[in-house]
Formats: sequence, structure tokens, C-alpha cells
Amino acid sequence: MNHRLGGTRFEVVATDTVTPTDGPTGASTSSASGYVQPEVDVPALTRLLDGRYAEVRNLVRSNLSAYSSILTDAETLSRADYRERVKELVVEMASTGQTGMGFPEEYGGGGDIGASIAAFETLSFGDLSVLVKVGVQFGLFGGAILQLGTERHHEAYLRRIVTGELMGCFAMTETGHGSNVQALGTVATYDVATQEFVITTTREDARKDYIGNAAEHGELAVVFAQLEVGGEGRGVHAFVVPIRVRDDSGELVPAPGVTIADDGLKMGLNGVDNGRLWFDEVRVPRDNLLNRFADVTPAGVYESPIDNPNRRFFTMLGTLIQGRVCVGGAGINAAKVALTIAVKYALRRRQFEASGEQEELLLDYGMHQRRLLPLLARTYALHFAQDVLSANLHDVLTGVREDEQTQRELESRAAGTKALGTWHATRTIQECREACGGAGYLAENRFAALKADTDVFTTFEGDNHVLLQLVAKGLLTDYASDFEWDQEAGLLDPEYQLAMYRFREEHMISGAARRLKRGIDNDMDPGEVFSRVQDHVIGAARAHMERLVLEAFVERTRALPDGDLKVALNLLCDLHALSGIEADSAWFMEHGRLSVQRSKAIRREVSSLCRKVRPLAGDLVDAFGVPEEMLRSPELIGDLVPMRG
Ligand SMILES: Cc1cc2nc3c(=O)[nH]c(=O)nc-3n(C[C@H](O)[C@H](O)[C@H](O)COP(=O)(O)OP(=O)(O)OC[C@H]3O[C@@H](n4cnc5c(N)ncnc54)[C@H](O)[C@@H]3O)c2cc1C
Repeated sequence: MNHRLGGTRFEVVATDTVTPTDGPTGASTSSASGYVQPEVDVPALTRLLDGRYAEVRNLVRSNLSAYSSILTDAETLSRADYRERVKELVVEMASTGQTGMGFPEEYGGGGDIGASIAAFETLSFGDLSVLVKVGVQFGLFGGAILQLGTERHHEAYLRRIVTGELMGCFAMTETGHGSNVQALGTVATYDVATQEFVITTTREDARKDYIGNAAEHGELAVVFAQLEVGGEGRGVHAFVVPIRVRDDSGELVPAPGVTIADDGLKMGLNGVDNGRLWFDEVRVPRDNLLNRFADVTPAGVYESPIDNPNRRFFTMLGTLIQGRVCVGGAGINAAKVALTIAVKYALRRRQFEASGEQEELLLDYGMHQRRLLPLLARTYALHFAQDVLSANLHDVLTGVREDEQTQRELESRAAGTKALGTWHATRTIQECREACGGAGYLAENRFAALKADTDVFTTFEGDNHVLLQLVAKGLLTDYASDFEWDQEAGLLDPEYQLAMYRFREEHMISGAARRLKRGIDNDMDPGEVFSRVQDHVIGAARAHMERLVLEAFVERTRALPDGDLKVALNLLCDLHALSGIEADSAWFMEHGRLSVQRSKAIRREVSSLCRKVRPLAGDLVDAFGVPEEMLRSPELIGDLVPMRG
């Protein structure tokens, strides 16, 4: 043992529930405490993770392998050529059916929302410009036509959207307003004389900005604009607007009245053509209003089955949450790629002699375990939470569950899971890059693209903080406490872990609610009160989401039949739960829910769990099923024979 390095292998075990299983260990090893190390059946675990959409996920995996040269193209082609290559790939993939699974069968789709989410999530093992272009074309643009339009729009566009023949944009954000969509400055005025809408960019900061497919490939855009009928503002509605037309030589050129500019070089995702759009009195027929939730008669009468404008707006946006669900899932899967590379590297990379004979594997260092394994556990947790979310979305969009409460819960859960999943991606990818040392910095080893391309996941499809604020507003409305629990239960008892998470959530919600009420009671301006309490409110939303994520993991693990897989997932679940409490131990101590002793015991337990997970780590990342070609990194992971210890 190299004592210079801290002697982690000989750390004293100070918890009565756990005996360490340090050092190289074989399968199903039994320790003095009776703990039997489980053996992970990798294909069985992959089947569990892939769930009911294993076939879809495997189709995408094989396509990713077939088109793996795109990872090199991203580094070697010019930006213009890379964009074209990405577009070609998206259209080729459309022909395999994998990008159209969420559309109705009568328009060439697969008629299965859950399958479309599974396909999208899996696609994020590969080049993320391809992923985002798919998201823009089929999720945002196609999704808006499907969800906000009616049969006439479906008939006119969906078949060609599903094949990728008709490319389009989802033009919501403006330079001046991204999060606050209700304040958009683009206006659509109804002209009763010609029965047309006139679309206008009313001021410079009302230009559409960051719009995917706008700079090069989009022919149509779903444009979000303030509807004005007979001089009266009716709020934001969506319109189909041609932005490019074919000239005499068949080339696509900007449509009359439309100005298009390129957003230029971005931090990542440079295979996607993001751009800006200006509209100078562009006229579109009355039929181009996507009229599922509101319509304008030829004579200029505004009609909607939803009277309240605010409710109408949020109902409309609520139908578009699939994109949000997909981005959260994509973030979680991008984290799997990073972890697979970093864990495999740590299973072959050696630094510093430990026993005098050979250098120590990185993953045998306690610090390295502490850095990677809680992130691995959290990735599993988020995976199962994402599963619950996509199943709920599938049920709501297919009408299995239709009540308003379910819809509200779904929207909140989608917002929160997206925030947690994408922040997790950013954090995990960074930690994994560092865990691979200098090698992690070489573009070939994937982290350059992973970091640059996933960074914006925290911003698009809703900025994460703004999304958590949305979650919080629902919580404050529904708040009611009925909290009881046993504070002395065992650390590895899921009921204890869940109770800690619930306590934090309830305490934060009630505290925020009290502070808001106090401010209002003191006649303070409501906006000012909210702003002062905002960090508390967003903290409550985070705590709520953390509880939902842990619940999903606990429930999934509980439902497994007894056996090694259950033991392994229990270890991960404990690690996830306790490392979450450990990370927030100051808060729990401040609020009298964690004694100093118990806090120390949790820290020891987390380290102990890391040591138990360590021999399984290679199998646990293999089970993600990231295709070998997507890992690239030959020098990092080489021809690795899985090492168990
Ligand atoms: C690569 C890329 C692709 C995109 N693709 C599309 C697309 O295809 N179509 C489309 O319509 N849009 C697209 N967008 C736009 C994207 O959805 C917006 O950037 C996003 O919604 C955030 O809006 P914003 O940029 O105006 O940020 P802002 O809303 O200005 O937010 C800036 C910061 O302020 C904070 N903030 C905002 N409001 C509050 C508040 N009330 N309280 C506290 N803090 C607050 C946020 O947390 C954030 O950190 C894309 C963006 C990018 C970068």
C-alpha cells in the first residue's frame, strides 16, 4: 500500500451496518459481515433499462453504429458541409422509421409516443447535432403541427414532415423574449378583406432568434405571434408561415417579406443551422392559423372553446411538452456515454504504486470512486424517473388519462425532470472529462463534443431555473402537510431515506409559502415578495423533484424479484439516496434533522457503498448499452476486457 496516497484501502470502517469490500473482488464474494457481493447479469440489466422499447432502442443503436463516421465528420468537415451531412443523415434516418414513431400511422408514423421518446433518448448516444436536428424537425416543428393544428394541417404537411422531405422550424423565441413567451413582439393581424393574417416583426428585438433549421434548410416555420383580430389582442397563437420558396432554378430562397440570417458559430451543435427571422407584412391564408384551440372565422370573429386567455395559452403550451421530456432524457443518456468512457478508463488506467508491484487502478482510489460512482447511481435514478415521466406522457397524449390534475402533474414533472437531467449531464460530463486526465481533453475521446453540445440543454426547451419556478408554483398551490416519520430508522432503510427527502421538500415548501404570505400580509408588492423568496421557492421545487426521482428508483428496485440484480440496484439506490443527503447535510443539520453523529455515519456509509459498487462498475456502465463505435476513445478504453476488480 502506498501510504503517501492516504491509505484508503485500510480506512477504518466506522459504521455498524457495513463492512468494506475493498480491493480486487470476484463475483458473489461473501464478506465476514455476511454481505454477498452480487454478480450483475449485464444483458438482463440492459433489458430492464431498455424496458418495453428494447426493440426500438436497438434499432437506433444499430443505426448509430452504421453512421458512426458522423463523429469524425463533426471534427473534419467545414461548418457548411457538416450541416449538410447532418441533414442528409436525418433524412436517411427518417426512412428507417425511427424518427417518426410519435406521429399517427395514417401519416406514415409509428403511432407510439413512448417509442418516439425511447428512440430520441437513444439517439443521444451519438452525434448531438443529429439529435437536435431530429428534435427540431420532428419534435418541435412536426410536433407543433400535430398538436396545435387540425386535420387540414395534418393532411397538408405531416406525411412530408415524417419523411423529412419538408423541413421546418419552430419559431417561438425572439431576441427580446425567450422565457417569457407571452411577451413576444411578433404580431399576426387578421385582414378580413383578404382573409389573411399579416405577420410582422414589430421591433428589432422581436426578430425570431436561435431558430433551428432557419439558417439553411427550413421551408416552413410555425411562427408564434400575438394575434390581433378587429383591433383586439388575443394573445400568442401559432401560424404556419412559408419562409423559403423555390426560385426558377429550383433553389430554395427566402420567401417574399422574409429576411433570414445565420446565428453563426455556436459553442456546440454546429451541425444545426440556427438562425434569425424577420417578417415584413408577410401574408398567409386564414387556414394557416393552427386552430386546435382557437380560430378566426372568415368574417373576423375570434372563437375558442377555452374562455380564459391565460388558460388557453398554457393549454396550448402544455401540448408541446414532449420536446421537454425528450431533452431531459437526452441529457441523462449523454451522461451515460461520459460515464461509460470514464469508468472503463478508470478500470485500466493505473497511477502510482500501491502494493509495490504494480500501479493502482484509478477506480481503486477512494476519491475516484467518490467522484464517479454517486454520479453513476444518480444516472440510474434519473433513468427510472425519466421512465415514469415518459410513461405518464404516453398515457396523457393517448388519452388513457385525461383529467386536469394528471395533466398538471405531468407538466410539472416534465419541467423538473428536464432541469435535473440536463444539469446532471453538464456536471457528469465535466467530472468524467477530468477523471480521464489529459486524454479526456482530446476531441477524439468524445468529451469535447459532449461538453459543448449538451451545455445548452440546460437552456433550450425552457431555461432550467424558469422551469423549476413553474414546478414551485404548482407546489405552492397544492401545498398541504401531513408529515410523520421515524428519524432513527436505519440509514439503508428506503423509508428513512424517502422521509428525509420528503421532510426537506415539505419544510422548504411550507417555509416559502409562509414567507410569501408574510410579505403579502405586510402589504409588500407581490412581485417584490416573490423575487425575494425566489431562491427558496426554486429550492423547494428542486427538493420536490429529488424526492420524485428517489421514489421512482425505490419503487423500481422494490418491484424486482429477489436476486443479484435487486441487490446491485439496491446498492445504487442507497448510494444515490445517501449521497444526496450528504451533499445537503448542512441544510439537514440546520433544520435539526441530522445529528453530527448521523451525518458522519452517512459519510462513512457513502464511502462504503462506493467500495461495494466499485467491483460492479464496469458491468453497470456496460448495461447502458452505448454502442462501442459511439465510445470511440480507443486509447482510453482500448480493447478492454471487463475487469471486475
Ligand atoms: C442552440 C439553441 C437552439 C435553440 N433552438 C430554438 C428553436 O428552435 N426554437 C425556439 O423557439 N427557440 C430556440 N432556442 C431558444 C431557447 O429556447 C431560449 O434561449 C430559452 O428559452 C431561454 O430564453 P432566453 O435566451 O431569452 O433567456 P432568458 O429568458 O433571458 O434567460 C436568461 C437568464 O435569466 C434567468 N431568468 C429568466 N427569467 C427569470 C425569472 N423570472 N427569474 C429569475 N431568473 C430568470 C434564466 O434562468 C437565465 O439564466 C434555442 C436556443 C439555443 C441557444
